Amino acid sequence: MTKEETPNNYRPIPKLFFDDLTGAMMNVCISCQQNLLENQIPYFIEKAIKPHLGYKAYATVFEYAMCINCMQQHKSKISKSSLASINEYFQKHIDVSRRQYLVANELYDNLGLWMDHCVATDNHISAIGECQIYAQCLGDQLVMGECPYMISGEALDTVVNLLSAETIDGFNKLQDELVGPSEFQDLLKGGPRVLL
Ligand SMILES: [Zn+2]
Repeated sequence: MTKEETPNNYRPIPKLFFDDLTGAMMNVCISCQQNLLENQIPYFIEKAIKPHLGYKAYATVFEYAMCINCMQQHKSKISKSSLASINEYFQKHIDVSRRQYLVANELYDNLGLWMDHCVATDNHISAIGECQIYAQCLGDQLVMGECPYMISGEALDTVVNLLSAETIDGFNKLQDELVGPSEFQDLLKGGPRVLL
């Protein structure tokens, strides 16, 4: 797309959301393997990281990109009760007006405003041992609005505790399917992780 056609909430994907293994932009859907940079399909990036100096120095626990179709397909497997619990938790804890303020004032050039505090607990990245970060993208652009955001491990643990055993089982199976036997497996043993 030409520069004139780029919506004003689009920004080049920041390095934070690059593939930490290769240092390049993520380009493949972890589930259907389609090329996300060539195909103009919305996709999501999720990373679990252990920050040391905020985002300046961190260890990556896992990272992947997934196209919107696969995301919806996997989400549809979450049980209704778990989905209701997740929604209830986020409705209670996310400061929606703050997110709306960022959009209303088009504060798209300051990534810190979007990502420095846990979206649920409001804890600052410097005080967080482990967290997950999320981005929505299109091609090489970050689509800002609902994403990007950061959620602390503490908040995720609370969410996981709200899930049904069936859903947790589903997440674990999905994890096996997507991640497979790799060095990441050990890191994932700590507990189920949520694809939100
Ligand atoms: Zn896909």
